[in-house]
Amino acid sequence: MIAGCGPAGAVLGFLLARAGIEVVVLEKHGDFLRDFRGDTIHPSTLELLDELGLSEEFLKLPHSRVTAVQLQTTAGQTVRVSLERLPSKFKFIAFMPQWDFLEFMTQHASRFPSFTLCRNADVIGLIEEDGEVRGVRYRDGEGEHELRALLTVGADGRTAVTRAAARLPRIETSPPIDVFWFRLQRHAEEVAAVFGRLGPGLLLVMLDRNEYWQVAFVFPKGTGDDIRARGLDVFRQDILRVAPELADRVGGIRSWDQVKLLTVRVDRLTRWHRPGYLAIGDAAHAMSPVGGLGINVAIQDAVAAANVLWRPLSEGRVSDHDLAQVQRRRERAVRVLQALQGFVQNRFLKPALMSAAPPSIPWVVQLVLRLPILRDIPPRMIALGIDRPHVESPARHYNSAP
Ligand SMILES: Cc1cc2nc3c(=O)[nH]c(=O)nc-3n(C[C@H](O)[C@H](O)[C@H](O)COP(=O)(O)OP(=O)(O)OC[C@H]3O[C@@H](n4cnc5c(N)ncnc54)[C@H](O)[C@@H]3O)c2cc1C
Repeated sequence: MIAGCGPAGAVLGFLLARAGIEVVVLEKHGDFLRDFRGDTIHPSTLELLDELGLSEEFLKLPHSRVTAVQLQTTAGQTVRVSLERLPSKFKFIAFMPQWDFLEFMTQHASRFPSFTLCRNADVIGLIEEDGEVRGVRYRDGEGEHELRALLTVGADGRTAVTRAAARLPRIETSPPIDVFWFRLQRHAEEVAAVFGRLGPGLLLVMLDRNEYWQVAFVFPKGTGDDIRARGLDVFRQDILRVAPELADRVGGIRSWDQVKLLTVRVDRLTRWHRPGYLAIGDAAHAMSPVGGLGINVAIQDAVAAANVLWRPLSEGRVSDHDLAQVQRRRERAVRVLQALQGFVQNRFLKPALMSAAPPSIPWVVQLVLRLPILRDIPPRMIALGIDRPHVESPARHYNSAP
């Protein structure tokens, strides 16, 4: 069974059911409608959908495409990262609401007879016997229940109940940033891209979502209450300080209710498993929002887990060695990407956000992005991931009726 139907749980549920494994996914919410989540579908995920024969249908869903990321400072420096040279059929990031992705995956998973999704099912603890996890306890509208399983996968996100109950060792780092998310109107003639605007004490990142900009207002950690206390007028002026072209629409922010706080948390389990239990996705490693990696890394965990576990699950025996293998296949990628995000946050964002002087882009970043031999490495790592798994689990069952 899988606790949590976010990107990791939905993709793992799909892949295991496709391989003919009985899988129950328990999701505490009744729907997937949560705004400002990981909406950045990178080429790594599009390639996965392509391997599954689903990319064409998926890309018919409403989305916007971005092929370049451009960062500009108030001092006039600009750097641009292009995805046009990626070694992939998909040379763009698809921005799509996460709920559309989850509906898509679970609808396809529901075509397999061995897939069950229970909504409004809140996992409240693990069933443990003789030092092994044997399933979960959960609560729904009818009361409390037990669900026993050969394997429990914790895909219940960054505040996972299951990983806390599993008492797995965790390292938490302290990222120096927090983020306010909000929307601003986008004019049809504006160039489609991801724009970063960096000024003293503030980074604004604007994500093209067709009819609107999804805007991240990045500020020094823990200062969100001070920003709110200074009032909306000052907030709007701060935005215009780095992005004056938004003057005609910044008045659209009329209340703090339109501005959602993301408290950035980064952590990683040093052990992702114990007998009968495995954590994947944010439950195993909450990522920083830098690079929009979280959803894509979570999905890659799910693919690796299905690759390793479908056979032991189908044979009715899952050893701790199998679970360790999932961690081994994914841990290096998580560590390298978290280190890369840490570098950007601590060496670049932190000094810029803490200083009243106009920020500048470090020479090392400028050099890497100018040299043809180096410039494609960062976008490739971000867009295609590291140690990206390909689907190895088989397709055993398929009901064509939706
Ligand atoms: C505000 C915000 C903005 C973000 N922006 C980006 C971005 O732009 N790009 C990006 O790549 N990533 C972003 N992320 C991170 C991204 O959303 C996550 O990395 C990704 O969704 C992780 O997937 P997951 O399946 O591991 O966990 P989650 O997406 O957190 O899914 C966990 C699921 O488990 C369910 N659940 C939790 N507890 C229980 C329980 N007790 N019982 C049953 N179900 C439970 C939850 O309801 C949820 O559906 C953002 C995150 C936040 C919070």
